[in-house]
Amino acid sequence: MRERGEFERIRDIVAALPGGEGVIVGPGDDAAVLRPGDGRDLVVTTDTFVEGRHFRRDLLDAGAIGRRLAAANVSDLAAMAATPRWALVSCVAPRDADPSWLRDVELACAGSLSAAGAPVVGGNLASGDGPIAFTVTLIGDVARGAHWTRAGARPGDVLALTGFAGHAGAALASALAAQPPSFGAVPEALAERYASPPSRIALASALAACGGVRAALDVSDGLAGDLAHLCEASGVGAVVRDASFAGDRALEGAARALGVDEASLRFGPSDDYELLLAIAPEAWTGCERAARDVGVTLLAIGSCTAEREALLERADGTRAPIRGAGWNHFA
Ligand SMILES: [Mg+2]
Repeated sequence: MRERGEFERIRDIVAALPGGEGVIVGPGDDAAVLRPGDGRDLVVTTDTFVEGRHFRRDLLDAGAIGRRLAAANVSDLAAMAATPRWALVSCVAPRDADPSWLRDVELACAGSLSAAGAPVVGGNLASGDGPIAFTVTLIGDVARGAHWTRAGARPGDVLALTGFAGHAGAALASALAAQPPSFGAVPEALAERYASPPSRIALASALAACGGVRAALDVSDGLAGDLAHLCEASGVGAVVRDASFAGDRALEGAARALGVDEASLRFGPSDDYELLLAIAPEAWTGCERAARDVGVTLLAIGSCTAEREALLERADGTRAPIRGAGWNHFA
């Protein structure tokens, strides 16, 4: 059932949305009509953010919530080597939810999606008695058959990570440890990583052009959990070198302030929206250079192995199983 004000609110939001290519019929009709290019496959993902579970209004402003919602979807397409093209944004909120706050979240989300190449071409606004929830459906495309998956890594492949692992989780843990909980007490670099996750679309496209990526996924649960997903899908194991993370001052500082082990932050629950890649060893140098050309540091953190387990190799050469569970919403 449509509530009063829905049409006005939608018109208000639609009027502020940027346009885009391939949109034959945009927002405002019963459905959008979109035209992918010849020889392209569609790549589609969706993610929902629920208040209390994925965001807290007392901790994050509307802009950060919108940007993180966009990032959750954009990084899934980056992990498939796809180019974002179009997006749908839907919201369920109680009738008394502040309309300008909802609009600010949706427009921040639409701004990030548009910057990644995907204008919002439709969506839905509904009232509900539960927590506020936003859902983005992101549609992208990729040259026919050129997508990456989590499967395909082989023993000997270089395991590479964009940016850093564990920063988002460390930022959130630091904010929650403050009294009262606040990102105001979190070092700016970490807080920024949480509020404005980077887009890895340009990097994925540069690496796809370069060739050599055999498997990929985005780190949205945490490095240990996501590495396990890649290993399982590919039927390989991994050795991750602890020394490859040396000099991560932001994580060192957070671990010290929280009184926890740095590795627990690095491998534990964290939605960093970075990419974890398995790259053919002969393609590594070219991939590293291609990443640098688009301003991204690709960190070689270890390699894939034939033994079906994930191990952390310490500086002294000893190895231990990687611990640290990722987010699991139904655990
Ligand atoms: Mg993912």
